[in-house]
Amino acid sequence: MDRIVIIGAGIGGVQAASSLADQYCVTLINGEDETPYYRMRIEELLGSAGPESIAIHPDDWYCGKGIRLIHGRAVRIEDHQVYMETGESIPFEKAVIATGAEPRILPLKGNRDDIIAIRRIDDVLVLKEKLEGGARSMTIIGGGLLGLEAAAAVREHFDVRMTVLETADFILPNQLDAKTSGYIQSLLAEKGIEIVTGARAEEASDDSVILSDGRAFPSDILCISAGVIPDISLASASGIKTGRGIIVDNHLSTSMPDVFAIGDAVELDGRTFGLAMHAREMGSYVASEIRGAGEGYKPSDVMTQLKVAGISLAVFGSKEGNRHEIAAGNGKAVIFEKGETITGIILVEAKQLLAKAKGAIGKSLESFLASVN
Ligand SMILES: Cc1cc2nc3c(=O)[nH]c(=O)nc-3n(C[C@H](O)[C@H](O)[C@H](O)COP(=O)(O)OP(=O)(O)OC[C@H]3O[C@@H](n4cnc5c(N)ncnc54)[C@H](O)[C@@H]3O)c2cc1C
Repeated sequence: MDRIVIIGAGIGGVQAASSLADQYCVTLINGEDETPYYRMRIEELLGSAGPESIAIHPDDWYCGKGIRLIHGRAVRIEDHQVYMETGESIPFEKAVIATGAEPRILPLKGNRDDIIAIRRIDDVLVLKEKLEGGARSMTIIGGGLLGLEAAAAVREHFDVRMTVLETADFILPNQLDAKTSGYIQSLLAEKGIEIVTGARAEEASDDSVILSDGRAFPSDILCISAGVIPDISLASASGIKTGRGIIVDNHLSTSMPDVFAIGDAVELDGRTFGLAMHAREMGSYVASEIRGAGEGYKPSDVMTQLKVAGISLAVFGSKEGNRHEIAAGNGKAVIFEKGETITGIILVEAKQLLAKAKGAIGKSLESFLASVN
């Protein structure tokens, strides 16, 4: 039976292992102490949930499936062997690198050494300890989806002054237009989250963050949420070609024969990924590739349905043309129209219109309005 070694037991690695276990002898290397878990649910641990509640599978599931789950860090791949930090080497016929990503850390003046970036269970536990220890203010640098989600998760459980600093002129510029973004900002304000836009953090002192324009915000806790960087360290140490991520072709093959890479760690056609849905689908795809049934991986379109701090958002098409807004239940639909056809729709707290909005791109505004009235 061919031996497969998967390095990294995040969502991608576990998906690949579970898809291959029936036919191959699979070793899954878990670089973290906990049973592999759903990374996107770690903020649930700010409440009463324990780490076991976010495990992808219970511990004994791996054994039951015949997957050898080992803890430790891989340091190098060479001659069909994975070398571990301990000196152990694990032979393979095929290997999959699923090492994920690391948070991007911004250079700030000052010598503050307790800045948090939320990526692992440990990060959330440190944050929780500070919150329970009486912290009264928290600042998050970065008003993207993860920063806003973290702000909302903390506010749900702790009564701290919460400030989110965003360098752009409005939050979620990739997803929203300025006006809709302003509306979301007002909904977040109702949840006790103050957003400061056009804010470039420059310095971090022990208890505050100072912007380039001199404004200061109290920050008993300082968190950075400025995106992620693919973890290419194992690939680079093994002489595998890397760019921003581990370079793969559309079969998810790396430059080293019989070694594939998946998930947040990879760069495919100049693009990197940072979503669980892509890690999971690459995990399934690489299994079909190893079985000899791969027909080329095509990433699914980015999901257009999001939940931002408990507010439901759905984004379809582009933001070109004239802007129209209609009330929809407790929320609203924002419609963009160019040359008599709809180019894009944003639904805020208006899930009931999802199916209709999906089919409306390229059709006339009148027909969409008639369908929703
Ligand atoms: C707070 C938070 C919320 C998120 N919310 C969402 C969301 O709502 N929707 C969404 O789609 N995505 C979300 N994401 C992103 C999503 O979690 C990632 O896209 C996904 O986890 C990537 O999976 P992966 O398997 O590629 O890597 P990871 O989950 O990062 O797993 C990689 C694993 O490999 C290990 N590793 C690295 N190097 C080595 C080595 N040398 N040896 C052994 N092990 C190693 C790492 O320690 C890690 O355990 C969120 C992320 C965070 C942090």
